[in-house]
Amino acid sequence: MTLFDRVFSGNDAVYGLTEQAINAAIDQYGEDKAVSFPHTAYSLPCYYAVTGTKVTNLKDLKEALGVVKTLMTREKRLNDAFMSGVATALCAEFIEVLKYIDGATPYEEPLYGHLADAVIRELGVPLVTGDIPGVAVILGSAPTAEEGVALVKSYQAQGILVTLVGGICDQVAEAGMSTGANVRVIPLGKDVTSVIHVVSVALRAALIFGNITPGDAANLMKYTFERVPAFVNAFAPLDDVIVACGAGAIALGFPVITNETENIFRVPKSLIVQTDVSKFNATSLEARDIKIKITNIDIPVAFASAFEGEIIRRKEMQVEFDGSRVDCCELVQTKEMSEVEDHKIEVIGPDVDEMELGSKNSIAYVVEVAGKNMQSDFEPVIERKFHNYINCIEGVYHTGQRDMLRIRIGQAAFGAGFRLRHIGEVLYASVKNEFEAVVDKCQVKIYTDPEKCTDIRHNVAQVTFDKRDDRLKSLTDESVEVYYSCILCQAFSPSHVCVVTPERLGLCGAVSWLDAKATNELDPNGPCQIITKERPIDERIGEYEDVNEAVRKFSQGALEDVSLYSIIEKPMTSCGCFECICGIEPLSNGVCIANREYAGMTPIGMTFPELASMTGGGVQTPGFMGHGKHFIASKKFMKAEGGVGRIVWMPKELKETVAERLNVTAKELYDIDNFSDMIADETITTDPEELLAFLEEKGHPALSMEPMM
Ligand code: SF4
Ligand code: ZN
Repeated sequence: MTLFDRVFSGNDAVYGLTEQAINAAIDQYGEDKAVSFPHTAYSLPCYYAVTGTKVTNLKDLKEALGVVKTLMTREKRLNDAFMSGVATALCAEFIEVLKYIDGATPYEEPLYGHLADAVIRELGVPLVTGDIPGVAVILGSAPTAEEGVALVKSYQAQGILVTLVGGICDQVAEAGMSTGANVRVIPLGKDVTSVIHVVSVALRAALIFGNITPGDAANLMKYTFERVPAFVNAFAPLDDVIVACGAGAIALGFPVITNETENIFRVPKSLIVQTDVSKFNATSLEARDIKIKITNIDIPVAFASAFEGEIIRRKEMQVEFDGSRVDCCELVQTKEMSEVEDHKIEVIGPDVDEMELGSKNSIAYVVEVAGKNMQSDFEPVIERKFHNYINCIEGVYHTGQRDMLRIRIGQAAFGAGFRLRHIGEVLYASVKNEFEAVVDKCQVKIYTDPEKCTDIRHNVAQVTFDKRDDRLKSLTDESVEVYYSCILCQAFSPSHVCVVTPERLGLCGAVSWLDAKATNELDPNGPCQIITKERPIDERIGEYEDVNEAVRKFSQGALEDVSLYSIIEKPMTSCGCFECICGIEPLSNGVCIANREYAGMTPIGMTFPELASMTGGGVQTPGFMGHGKHFIASKKFMKAEGGVGRIVWMPKELKETVAERLNVTAKELYDIDNFSDMIADETITTDPEELLAFLEEKGHPALSMEPMM
């Protein structure tokens, strides 16, 4: 049988199953029964992306199947095979969505099934920074569980996001490997159709970040081919259905690597036979042209970004350092060149093996740096990265910052020989690696002696933190000479530009003005460029001729002009990875804000994913704006429309996070005390009429502001 025949036969088989499943569902629930995946604004994202049609109920689904049938042409040209592959994928999506009918939750831990829109938005930044260099889709059962686990771990150690479909899910579970989005190993499901949940991620990335018009199949495939670094590893034996799915993957630009040798012909760069499973990793990276940044650090456990989200539970921990109970701190200090001996690491006080199992201890680590181009403004930028660096250590967990940090060292890491000096090695290597343009020399001092820690915390660190806070407070949009662009997200949102100012950080929440300044210093031709602000056009909305010129240039002409302070007039664009989205709520004359973590409804009548889908892809959408959490308390938040006083609703958790700073801003702007109490949340209402009544009762300032529309 030729490869074409296998694709067609697999496609026919899945089509038959899909037809049966849809008919059975109609018999059971009737044609009008609603169907959609949960936590997405795109209903059936793959079908929507390919055709531009949103399926809402079983009747639509049946019609959609008719559309799929038209893709299943049977002439024996390459395009027929690709389209049949796409048709197979769409059928898989139909079968999977039926599992969710009637509010069912078909997947149980550790299996994921469908992934929410919010998960894709979170992936935005690590994908553009190369922190996640690729996405592996592993399908079927490895020849042995050991080989399967080794393959998964090899990708994990490179930071690659691994998704699992079929027997491999059981193989990693049996081996006791911990899985989950937090460690970048996501078991999707055991049926082959669950592979659609990763395809759905790729296609939604195109809609969310790429501003691809739903239904524009040609550009959709171009986008996934050029910008989504995914590939497939399919274990033998391959049945026809898997072969058909593989054709779909190849149509999207994702190479398939397999150890199957029977009835397969090789397609250069697309369908590659590699009989040695231990070489799948190398073969895949080469086929998809993925480069891995290697940081060689001399420690006894793994170091990879995939471990960043790993959690060490109390019962798994050897010792912990807890700044909320005892004196701890982490600090970067700039020194003279002569004061720093490069790569010197000192541990002053007892090491982990001298501490009691399960005990709470003090720690203070001071990273002393020297360099011709070093500036004290970069100290907090470097220091904030410690959280990521230490978290990348397998079996070590870090939260918090400054003197409110906590570190746990797991028993497994301790057993492997991990000691405090290794934290020094990690900090040293990471700082030198990432900040080489400003740090010429670096040494690390790690104190665990409690008295020493108390002394450093109070007499050195807190003094430094206070000084830095004063500096931050003095940084306003007016007080600085220049702003910065950030175009990191152009990898996915080709025309998106963030203009980063002291009072308006990047919408991802990860790039402040100081960060952008440091990025520019580290790499003058990199993603952050200086933007002058010498030629104001309209101070009210924050529009400058120089900013417009920069935005035109960095968006390759896609964007004409932007304002810094308005949500209605020439608002800044969004890429897709924003922490929060705000949108106008007409009845109350204000805005509602939702954060990515919030799963519920808002008074606008849309959830976070739905609101988020209103903007993105580097396009201006007046009335909707993606932004960072920190921006909510800024005096520049919607300044043109009256400022933070426009905020009428936020999820409770978000409100609590920003309340303190927001209240200070509101006091200054409107002389209102405890402004956050006037803002409604989901525990108060998500209904616009009730919201209005609540605001009236509280005397909310938005009610007396000028109409926004
Ligand atoms: Fe992307 Fe803007 Fe964040 Fe830069 S600042 S990473 S462009 S969202
Ligand atoms: Zn982004």
